[in-house]
Amino acid sequence: KAGADKDMAALRAAKVAHLDGRGEIRGGGHGRAACRIEAWDTAFYSQRILKLEHGVDTEAVRQYFPLDHVVATTLAVYQELLGLTFTELPPGSFPRWHAEVRLFIVHEAGENGARVGHFYLDLHPREGKYGHAAIFHLLKRHGAQTPVDCMLCNLPAPSRDGTPALLRHGDVVTFFHEFGHIMHGLCSAGEANSTSLAKCPRDFVEAPSQMLENWCWQPAVVGRLSRHVETGEPLPAELLASLVGAKNVHASMGIMRQIYLATLDLEIHGASPPADAAGLQSLVDRLRPELTQVANPTGGNMLRSFGHLMNQYSAAYYGYMWAEVISADMFATRFEADCMSKEAGAAYRKQVLAPGGTGKIMAHLTAFLGGREPSQEPFLKARGIL
Ligand SMILES: [Zn+2]
Repeated sequence: KAGADKDMAALRAAKVAHLDGRGEIRGGGHGRAACRIEAWDTAFYSQRILKLEHGVDTEAVRQYFPLDHVVATTLAVYQELLGLTFTELPPGSFPRWHAEVRLFIVHEAGENGARVGHFYLDLHPREGKYGHAAIFHLLKRHGAQTPVDCMLCNLPAPSRDGTPALLRHGDVVTFFHEFGHIMHGLCSAGEANSTSLAKCPRDFVEAPSQMLENWCWQPAVVGRLSRHVETGEPLPAELLASLVGAKNVHASMGIMRQIYLATLDLEIHGASPPADAAGLQSLVDRLRPELTQVANPTGGNMLRSFGHLMNQYSAAYYGYMWAEVISADMFATRFEADCMSKEAGAAYRKQVLAPGGTGKIMAHLTAFLGGREPSQEPFLKARGIL
C-alpha cells in the first residue's frame, strides 16, 4: 500500500508536468492540486515515466532480440538446466495443422536417453487462431505413450522478404514463461499424472513458469538471449542496466490491481455475493478506488469481460499473486546465486516438476526449500518493497 501510494504520487506528478508543459492546467496551483489520475491515465503515464526517467527505450532493446535466436537460446537454456535433449523433427515427417508448426522430441540427456515426450511450437498469429499465449496438453502419459504438449502463442513472424522478427523484452519473458509450462507437462512423472496435471492447484500452477521468468532478467542469460539483428552483439551493459533497473517501476501499483481483481473474484464467489446487476456494479465502484486509488469510470464494469471469473480461476484468481510469492522464494533460495546450477535444476525437476499435480504441493515445496514452507519475504524483496 505504501509503495502504491508512492507510485500514484509519481504518476500524478508526471501528469501535472505533462499538462503544465502543454499549458492545459487552468487555475494555477489550485488546478494542479485538483489534477488526479483517472483510469485512462495509468498506462500512459507509466510508459512516459519509464521512457523519460529510466531510459528504457523499447525500440532500441528490440533490435537485440531476433525471434529465431531467442527461441533457439531459450530451448538451449532449458535443455542445460533440466538435463534434457530436444531434437526437431523434419517437416513432412509428422502431422501438423499449419506449415509454420514445429515439432520436437524430448529425451533425457546422454547416450540412449529415454524418451520424455514431444512438444509442438505454433508461434505466429494468423487468421482464426487463438489470440493469446497458452499450453495445451494434446496427449497425456499413458503406459508406453509419452505426453505431447503444444504451445500456441502470437509472436511476430519474420516478414516475407526474410527480415527477421524482433521481440520486445516482454515477449521474450512470455516465451520463456510458456515454455516453463511445457516442461511442467513433460517432466511430470508417473501414471498418476496422466490425468492429474491439469488439476494442479490453481494457486500453484503458475509458480514454476513465473519462477523461470527470472532467467530473462539475469545478466548472463540476457547476454545469451540477446544478439543484435545486424551487429550480432549482445545487449550492451548500459541498456541492460536500465532494463533491469526499471523492472520494479510501478510494481506496487500492479500488485494492488491484482489484489483488486482477486478481491472482486472472492466477493462474487463468497458467502454473500451481490444479488443483481446493480449490486455487481456497486461492488466494482467501491472496490476499485478502495484498492487501486483510481475511480471507476461511470458505468464501467470490467466484470463483463473478466473471463477468469467463470473459468478454472473462479474463486482462485488470487492464485496468480500467491504463486508469485512461491515462485520468488523458490528462485531466491535455490537459483539466485547461480541460475544455471545443474544441481539446483535437477532438484527442481525431481522435487517440483516431477510430482505434477499429485501429492501435497506444500510437501514438495518444503522439500525443495530445504525443509521449510515458503515465506513472503523473497517476493517483497524481489518487488523492491522490502
Ligand atoms: Zn502461465
